[in-house]
Amino acid sequence: MDFALTAEQEAIQRTFHGFAEREIRPRARELDERPEFPRALFEQLGALGFFGMRYPAPLGSGADIVSCVFAIEELAWGSLSVAAACTMQSLMGTWFLHRFGSPAIKERLLEPALRGAKIGAICMTEPDAGSDLFALATKARLEGSGWRLSGSKTWVTSAPVADFFTVFARTGEDRLGVFLVERGAPGLDVGRSIEKMGVRSSLTSEVRLSDVPAALLGEEGAGAKYLREILAEIRVVTAAMALGVGRAAYEEARRYASERQQFGKPIDRHQAIQAHLADMATELEAARRLTHWAAWRSDQGLPNAREASMAKLFASEVAHRVCDHAARVTASYGFAADSPVQRYLRDARFLLIGGGTSEILRINIARES
Ligand SMILES: Cc1cc2nc3c(=O)[nH]c(=O)nc-3n(C[C@H](O)[C@H](O)[C@H](O)COP(=O)(O)OP(=O)(O)OC[C@H]3O[C@@H](n4cnc5c(N)ncnc54)[C@H](O)[C@@H]3O)c2cc1C
Repeated sequence: MDFALTAEQEAIQRTFHGFAEREIRPRARELDERPEFPRALFEQLGALGFFGMRYPAPLGSGADIVSCVFAIEELAWGSLSVAAACTMQSLMGTWFLHRFGSPAIKERLLEPALRGAKIGAICMTEPDAGSDLFALATKARLEGSGWRLSGSKTWVTSAPVADFFTVFARTGEDRLGVFLVERGAPGLDVGRSIEKMGVRSSLTSEVRLSDVPAALLGEEGAGAKYLREILAEIRVVTAAMALGVGRAAYEEARRYASERQQFGKPIDRHQAIQAHLADMATELEAARRLTHWAAWRSDQGLPNAREASMAKLFASEVAHRVCDHAARVTASYGFAADSPVQRYLRDARFLLIGGGTSEILRINIARES
């Protein structure tokens, strides 16, 4: 692949970098300390066209995945919390409505969600079905011509504020379906936000369903197939988030190391600190190449389940290691609430879980290699 950006990709990167610098970074600490859904930022990002990037005109701009990767890296550079909430909405919260929603659903829910004015959540994980997603127990039952869902979902990003939910449920012993549930539906109960160590303003909660009316999206029994179709993309954009938070930690460590003096010189003149900085830069560069390669393969329509898993595995582990290096380089300063370094480190832990844990990704890569 050619790593040179097109003029359009460069413009996208510039736009989202500028936005992250002006609008997200100055609020990142506050959003972390007083976890609050970033609604105003959602609307601003909607106006910038972020949520519609993957959707064809007239809904959106139909950008390629490489462009999405650049945009998402910049958002995560600003705040991983904001990037996580926004990416979940653009990638999963609205995806099944776009593919299978009726014209009325598209007009009422999808279009406003792509403007950032409505929030969509995706409900797959259950208390007893995390990595083993296909063990999910939420049941879908046909009553007359309509479906009813019963079960319990957890760790649902944006659930506390969501206007609609895409829910995976069992329609038969070996069959999953994808359903739309709207806020306010009888029998729907959204729990309180789960207190988390990181990505704190990306609110997450339980969702309980007790005989809730729901609309089937797509074909009954095709849920597992639909999920597999977007899994690679989910992993590539999660890798993009890792690049953003890793880069932010690296830049902060480098800045600090050039200013902090010990033993009569800036600490970046000490070889031990240089080794930290060199490892951070090298690993980030490798993660970036792997992520862009997986994104490019996606855009070319090449098989990339294995490559996307590799990118997500490597980039998320790198982000975590880079944030740890940054904490060592910045020592007491990085430990203080005033410093963003401790937040980067806490936030980066999310990347080791969401989009598939490292253990599961290794299993997938081994199976596909
Ligand atoms: C901040 C956040 C936001 C999230 N948002 C959403 C969301 O919007 N919607 C949603 O549906 N879910 C969401 N999730 C859930 C997420 O997808 C799951 O947490 C993830 O799939 C892992 O499941 P688990 O936490 O139950 O871990 P488990 O599956 O219980 O795993 C525990 C440990 O066992 C390991 N393990 C499991 N199986 C195997 C195996 N076969 N071999 C080796 N090791 C194994 C895992 O790697 C892990 O180390 C979110 C999670 C977080 C933390």
